[in-house]
Amino acid sequence: MERIYFDNSATTPVDPLVLKEMEPFFTQKFGNASSLHSFGREAYNAMESSREKIARVMGARSKEVIFTSGGTESDNLAIQGVAFANREKGDHIITCGIEHHAVLNTCEFLATQGFRVTYLPVDEWGLVSTENLKEAIDRRTVLVSIMYANNEIGSIQPIREIGAIAHENGALFHTDAVQAITKMPLDVVKDNIDLMSISAHKFHGPKGVGALYLKKGVKIRPIMYGGGHEKGHRSSTENISGIVGMSKALELTMASMDQSIGSMTTIRDRIIDGVLSVVPRSYLNGHRTLRLCNNAHFRFDFIEGESLVLQLDLEGIAASTGSACSTRSLEPSHVLAALGVRREQSYGSLRISLSRMNRPEEAERLIEVLPGVVSKLREMSPVKSYDTEPVATSETKPKGKEADQCHTAKE
Ligand code: PLP
Repeated sequence: MERIYFDNSATTPVDPLVLKEMEPFFTQKFGNASSLHSFGREAYNAMESSREKIARVMGARSKEVIFTSGGTESDNLAIQGVAFANREKGDHIITCGIEHHAVLNTCEFLATQGFRVTYLPVDEWGLVSTENLKEAIDRRTVLVSIMYANNEIGSIQPIREIGAIAHENGALFHTDAVQAITKMPLDVVKDNIDLMSISAHKFHGPKGVGALYLKKGVKIRPIMYGGGHEKGHRSSTENISGIVGMSKALELTMASMDQSIGSMTTIRDRIIDGVLSVVPRSYLNGHRTLRLCNNAHFRFDFIEGESLVLQLDLEGIAASTGSACSTRSLEPSHVLAALGVRREQSYGSLRISLSRMNRPEEAERLIEVLPGVVSKLREMSPVKSYDTEPVATSETKPKGKEADQCHTAKE
């Protein structure tokens, strides 16, 4: 059976051309970029030309790109970095309730260090309101951190306006663009961004490497101390093969970005229309159009997302839930709770996330298989109707402890 991979928001396969580009940096060009000899210079030059390419894609200057180990580290470095470096100026951070845990848990940590954190609510589509931001921001706000696009439901935030409001009020603006980069054009200057996180494994690069855009002049305090690499912002010997792979992956994806966005949008829309029409009592989570070109996120009444994912897996289709932890803790997704989705309904969620490597036939296979799988699960389900439990509020606050237990589908 040919397997179909629809879990690209969790991670993507490395493009073979990326792997080819990386290979020499393990065995022949293995130098330490800090060394003075030719091996070191070779590594250094490869790193700097990668930095240049990555900066160009972001609309930044190469000196403004810091290499990290991925999205989580970039988020931590940005948020903790700005908070601790600007302690005299203020103690207030604004974020929103549907951020990735790399942001939420960092903010929770900062709250234990004496910072005030405001979690903006989102509307039923998962969108932040700029009016709410204007009300929340004050002269002690040092940082606004709002994700470019959400990893579960794909909603795209009004980034440019958010950045402008932050700046008008003397605050810095960080965005987690881990899911957005390569899925839409972005430009740190036009978008009013001061710090931006990206991660290579979401766009056919290797795992364990990412970058943080840090606008010239913005001060951050490092979160690790050591040899002073990356201008003192991020010590540790640079991961040259990973960095080379990340820049190659970005280059390849960007070369055909318009075309891939077009084809992912077509497949996404076919999946959304197809699923909603063939599966009774199915609903789309998130906005119909203000969503990532590669994201379709559904909920189905009376079933559990985990069982659905396992049944689809038996059919050779890999997707993810986004509703609960693998520990089977009964905590529903903090994202769906923030949207106001009823607790019991949020359990029956399914996220389909695409990459440029998916084909239209794969969407047809999903639409063919899904109704049978859903009705089989509904037959087995003890739940046949919902009583009227109150709807979760959009101010539902993230819970650090539960979040720590999660290790699925929150990517
Ligand atoms: N931010 C978002 C929005 C993500 O989807 C992910 C993915 O897991 C991360 C941060 C963390 O990235 P990484 O796995 O590179 O640490």
